[in-house]
Amino acid sequence: MLEVTHLTRTFGAIRAADDISFQVPRGAITGFIGGNGAGKTTTMRMILGVLHPDSGQVSLDGRPVTRELSRHFGYMPEERGLYPKMRVAEQIAYLAALHGFSQAAAANRAETLLKSLGLGQRLADPVEKLSLGNQQRAQIAAALAGDPDVLVLDEPFSGLDPMAVDTVGEILRDYVGRGVPLIFSSHQLDLVERLCDHLVIIAGGRIRTTGSRAELLHAHAGQRWEIECGPAAWIADVPGVSAVEPFNGRHRFAVTAPEGEAAAVAQEVLRQALGRGPVAAFAPWQPNLVEVFREVIVDEPQDKQENR
Ligand code: ATP
Repeated sequence: MLEVTHLTRTFGAIRAADDISFQVPRGAITGFIGGNGAGKTTTMRMILGVLHPDSGQVSLDGRPVTRELSRHFGYMPEERGLYPKMRVAEQIAYLAALHGFSQAAAANRAETLLKSLGLGQRLADPVEKLSLGNQQRAQIAAALAGDPDVLVLDEPFSGLDPMAVDTVGEILRDYVGRGVPLIFSSHQLDLVERLCDHLVIIAGGRIRTTGSRAELLHAHAGQRWEIECGPAAWIADVPGVSAVEPFNGRHRFAVTAPEGEAAAVAQEVLRQALGRGPVAAFAPWQPNLVEVFREVIVDEPQDKQENR
């Protein structure tokens, strides 16, 4: 397990990372999500050791991550770093060789990786001749070139078409299946929802919540239901109902009764609604990740989401 403990980093008056602690377990894809300027890149750079924290530490299976250990991490930085004029396959082979592969094994590895990423026809092309999406695929190959022990990927999916997202998702899932701790940042919440088992949400340089996807979805579901019926001002007057709000053409209501009694309150709402007219839908409300994210972050003022 990769563990980040109390990492803090300031840039002048800006507290870009403020007492950041979270875990990246093995066997799960961890999504690192937050708005622009939330502190994701700063945190990832500290994990890699390319940026020194003011305080705090990073450990892998309880051992502090030293320069030597982080050499075996695969990193995809925010600022993409391939040489534009160098041929794609040569470049990935060069990176593999830097990580100890023999020349022949490195060339082999480069070819296999690039083919798996759909770049089999472009092996001999210079990076600058590739489309942006294909350059992004090559960047992913670069992060994987050294057969990394840990993967830290900053926005690996940005600019990829849906087919490439699926391909890269499968490749990453394969690494995770082999026990490699993997964290990636993204703004694409639908994709995070689809790919990630574990989530870390950051805003304003602080961790707002972490947990498995199921835990977060459950924690935010609360005792809420949604109903599709006619005018619904009366719902707020049903004993036990604490809040009613319009939601996607339906009415979402929360119940504050003890857990065992909440369902009975919801049934009472349904009974009264049926007495007033047709009910097109009635179900416990299950948030998706976009809604969890909105509840955790978007309801905060923007200046608290980005540290200035
Ligand atoms: P984005 O999703 O937009 O890439 P992020 O979550 O990766 O954002 P960071 O790049 O970590 O956010 O930035 C966090 C805060 O730290 C921002 O306010 C940013 O302006 C500031 N910051 C980051 N790096 C530096 C630096 N080298 N010098 C000064 N301020 C910095």
